[in-house]
Formats: sequence, structure tokens, C-alpha cells
Amino acid sequence: FYNTLARKKESFEPIDPQNVRMYVCGPTVYDFAHIGNARPVIVFDLVFRLLRHVYGADHVTYVRNITDVDDKINARAAEEGCSIRDLTERTAKQFHADIAALGVLAPTVEPRATEHIEEMKDLCEQLVEKGHAYAAEGHVLFDVSSMSDYGRLSNRSVEEMEAGARVEVAPYKKGAMDFVLWKPSKEGEPGWPSPCGIEGDGRPGWHLECSAMAGKHLGQVFDIHGGGIDLAFPHHENEIAQSRCAHGTDVMAKVWMHNGFLQVEGEKMSKSLGNFITIHDLLDSKAFGDSPWHGRVVRWAMLGTHYRQPIDWTVERLQQARATLIEVAESLHGVEPSTAPNAEVLAALSDDLNTPSALSILHGLLKSAKRNPDKRPELKATLQFMGLYGDETAEELDPGRRDHDVDAGAVEKLIAARLSARKEKDWAEADRIRDKLAGMG
Ligand code: AMP
Ligand code: ZN
Repeated sequence: FYNTLARKKESFEPIDPQNVRMYVCGPTVYDFAHIGNARPVIVFDLVFRLLRHVYGADHVTYVRNITDVDDKINARAAEEGCSIRDLTERTAKQFHADIAALGVLAPTVEPRATEHIEEMKDLCEQLVEKGHAYAAEGHVLFDVSSMSDYGRLSNRSVEEMEAGARVEVAPYKKGAMDFVLWKPSKEGEPGWPSPCGIEGDGRPGWHLECSAMAGKHLGQVFDIHGGGIDLAFPHHENEIAQSRCAHGTDVMAKVWMHNGFLQVEGEKMSKSLGNFITIHDLLDSKAFGDSPWHGRVVRWAMLGTHYRQPIDWTVERLQQARATLIEVAESLHGVEPSTAPNAEVLAALSDDLNTPSALSILHGLLKSAKRNPDKRPELKATLQFMGLYGDETAEELDPGRRDHDVDAGAVEKLIAARLSARKEKDWAEADRIRDKLAGMG
């Protein structure tokens, strides 16, 4: 795996092969997940599957959290006039439905921030005690100057960061880069009794949430931490600062993996550009291209680009993936899979998750499986292992096509009626029937 912390590819050696541990930052649940959010979910699902294959399904612990306390959540609930709990429950449920359609396995543990408030307060207390944090005006702040190698992950010095920071620095901060571990809650905002002798209720900062959940479920040092590249700074840098300084460790996770960004038809995805695509839109409506898309098609299209590269999300990419998967279904639907995935595909995935290479090997295997039925069981096992095919039929993989499904008998009757209308020179009726047929596609 390429390790962002080492800035190079490294051979992966788990701390404990009996329990390989991975943490990935999960969604903040206030709105539908978009197709960019689907990228880390799919990529790290594949890492999870690969680790399970190598070390055994019972020897991997994968934690992907749900951030259910956050300013964006409060703002959205107020906007919609619903309770925070309603909003987060509804959004989390939608998220699960969306990603299940993408062939994503459930993580081993899916902790929620609101269920780990005590652990977060504990971290605040430890950091203050050890001289890495201080309380000021109802806040607890991390003292960046107390950590000699802050910035190692994103490879920048504190001086550079301070120079680049354009935000106005709050007066209670000792240093411009100091960040919030805990902040006071206003009337109506979710809050819990504050730590570190602070009066009144407060709530955790986002970075602290991940440190607390990772520590609780994976221990002080674990194997892999993942997320999108946008999270490397400041989110992951701050997770590292909190966890290492609280526990007195050299690293928080040995390997840091980051997926590249997704853009749409060459542009940044944004609501104002009108190219903002949710997973839900893609699966259930015609919001992108000519059809709704099957989840396996979305997954195949996503894995066509190496996870560290930027990806350009296009209709054409989806169409190609769909065409391939339909061929897959035509050869493999109903075939009994073998027990082991293809060795070459495994080797490609073991090389920093080289999915473009894996997919090109799969194309070759598909070509020979079409001619030779003996090759089908292994190909099917490989596709199942990667979550790319779950025995769907060709029709299921092309949900748009069902919209055009017509009753052939009814069409034949209409054609006959049109011909007889023409014979009788009833042009109006003939045209009406022609338009009706055209409308049926
Ligand atoms: P957020 O809910 O914004 O914290 O994002 C959840 C996850 O999605 C994080 O791992 C982000 O890095 C990732 N992410 C957000 N937008 C994109 C994008 N356009 N492309 C790829 N990953 C993204
Ligand atoms: Zn995180």
C-alpha cells in the first residue's frame, strides 16, 4: 500500500495478523451521500475484502464511524424544523440503503459519535493533564506548539500553515493553529456536561470524535487509517495530534491511505453548477445520463480508476461498465462459483489496490469464459470477491431498459390497426396510432 505518512509504497505488515485493524472516516449524516462520498466507501470496502482474504474473515476489524454531532447537522435540522435525532436517523438509514446497493459489506463496527461522548471527554482531560491542551472561554483547545512534529502527515511546518491561514484567529487561542477539542453549546444545541472544569454544556469537535472512536474500538495504535485526500489536513493531522499526545505513541496508525477526488464531466461537483449527484439519484432516477444505474455498474465504473488518482465521473464510463456487466451476466448468471478468486487479480489488488489492472485482467477472463464454460466458476468467484457481481440477470443490470419494456402482442395489434386505418384512408387515426407507438419507444 502507498502510505501517505511515508510518502511511498510499503510492504504491509500487520501489527497483529490475528487482528488486522482499519479505521475509515464515515459520513456526517445531514444529507444524501453524493457520488464523491461513495468513493472512499467502495475503495476501503475493497481493502477490507482483500485483508479478509489474506488474513481470514475473522481476523480483520474494520471501523467506519457515523458522525452524528456536527454544526452542519444542527443547521439542517433547524432549517427543516425537525429534531436532530430524526435527521441523523433518517440520513443514516438512507446511507446504508445506498451503499448496500453498491455491494459494500457492513464494517465490523459502526460507532456513532453521540455514543462516545465519555471517551471524548476523557481524551480532553488527558491532553490537558499532559500539557497538550488548555481550557479557555468554555473551549478546550489543542496546543499545537506542544507537539514537535505536528504536520508530519501533510508534510508542512507550523510556520507554513500559520502563514497560509487566512481565517481570523479567535482571541482565546494561544496559537493560530490551535484547534478545538470541545466547545460550548448554545441554547437548543445538543450538549453534554463539559470536561476540564468548564461550566455548562458543550460538545466535541469533529477531529476529537474520530480519535475517541478509533481508540475505543481499535486501540492506541492500529494498522490502517483511511479517508479522502481532503481529510489529510486538517482532520487527520489533528486526529494524529490528539491520539498520539494523549497516548504517548509514535504513530496513531502505521499506514495512512487516501483516495483521490471525484469530479463530474470535468468539473468540480457542486450544487450551484447543477452537477451534484447523490448515490440515490444515480440508482433511482434519471438524473445522470439516459437511465437509472444499477449499483454494481456504479461500483465497476468507480474501480476503473486507481483509487489515488482523481476520477472524472461521466455517463460514458457508466455505459461502458454496464455493457461489460451485461456480458458478465449473459455468461455467468446461475453459474456455481469456484472457491478461490483468480491469482492474477489478487496480485494486482495486492499492488496498492491496482483496480485498473485487475479490471483489465477480468476483461480477458471474461473473453475466455464466453468461449469456455470451464473458465466461468473462477471468474464468478473473483467478481463476487470484489463485490462486482451478485448473480444479477442482464435485465436487472439495466434498470433503464425495463422502462421501455412493451408487450409485443399489444404492439402487433396497434400495427395491424394502423395498417387497416391507412387502407381506409383514415389518416388521423393512422397518425394517432403511429404517435402512440413512438411514445412507447
Ligand atoms: P464528508 O461527509 O464531507 O466528511 O465526506 C465523507 C468522505 O467522502 C470523506 O472521506 C471525504 O474525503 C470523501 N469525499 C467527499 N467529497 C469527495 C469527492 N468529491 N471525491 C472523493 N471523495 C470525497
Ligand atoms: Zn475522521
